Amino acid sequence: LIELRDVNKHYGKLHVLQGINLTVGRGEVVVVIGPSGSGKSTLCRTMNRLETIESGSIAIDGRPLPDEGKGLARLRAEVGMVFQSFNLFAHKSVLANVSLAQIKVRGRKKEEADRRSRELLDRVGLAAQADKLPAQLSGGQQQRVAIARALAMDPKVMLFDEPTSALDPEMINEVLEVMQQLAREGMTMVVVTHEMGFARSAANRVVFMADGRIIEDRTPDDFFTNPHSDRAKDFLSKIL
Ligand code: ATP
Ligand code: MG
Repeated sequence: LIELRDVNKHYGKLHVLQGINLTVGRGEVVVVIGPSGSGKSTLCRTMNRLETIESGSIAIDGRPLPDEGKGLARLRAEVGMVFQSFNLFAHKSVLANVSLAQIKVRGRKKEEADRRSRELLDRVGLAAQADKLPAQLSGGQQQRVAIARALAMDPKVMLFDEPTSALDPEMINEVLEVMQQLAREGMTMVVVTHEMGFARSAANRVVFMADGRIIEDRTPDDFFTNPHSDRAKDFLSKIL
């Protein structure tokens, strides 16, 4: 469903993605881990064209990423992204936050969008919060709104870039549970996270990045019990 071939990107002199090859099949959950600055966020952002690449190719569902225009808007809808910061509209209700892009990008009528939003808010456990403002919600609840908002576009793929890093510890699990549920339902997911419990229980594969390269790409069991590279061993010894 996602196919990256020999993807390269620089920031000035920094070669931040160095010949990345990555294939993610339909329904697969791939967890990306690696030291700070290894290029994990950049990799995520290239997959929905928030970042351009210099060489190589990226295709989603067999189609190369469009450069601009309508194709790009459709791509952004098909590739849902959830960041560390929730980026909700502060002056709009939770319901409106989830409905807005459905109306603007998907062309849904307000009633239809609101109906879908309520379904999704129910699914992430926030049915009762629909009429509140984001600031009236906890961080974990806000992140679940952000997930509902991305799901409302009926994405083919969901990208998560450290979705729980900004949360207080007691709120991390409620977000991970929503993600686990999505994984069980067969959503194709790429997840940058330091939550190794999630990686072990939800991921089909763990991709370990260092210095702009994919160093290991293996099953979680295999990776955690028997990391091959010194970089991965060193990384795991610091976080486990
Ligand atoms: P972290 O775990 O800290 O989130 P990361 O693996 O997500 O790290 P990236 O954010 O992808 O790493 O950054 C990779 C490298 O590219 C870093 O050295 C970073 O400083 C640099 N970088 C990222 N964004 C930019 C930018 N817009 N301009 C210049 N350099 C950048
Ligand atoms: Mg990052």
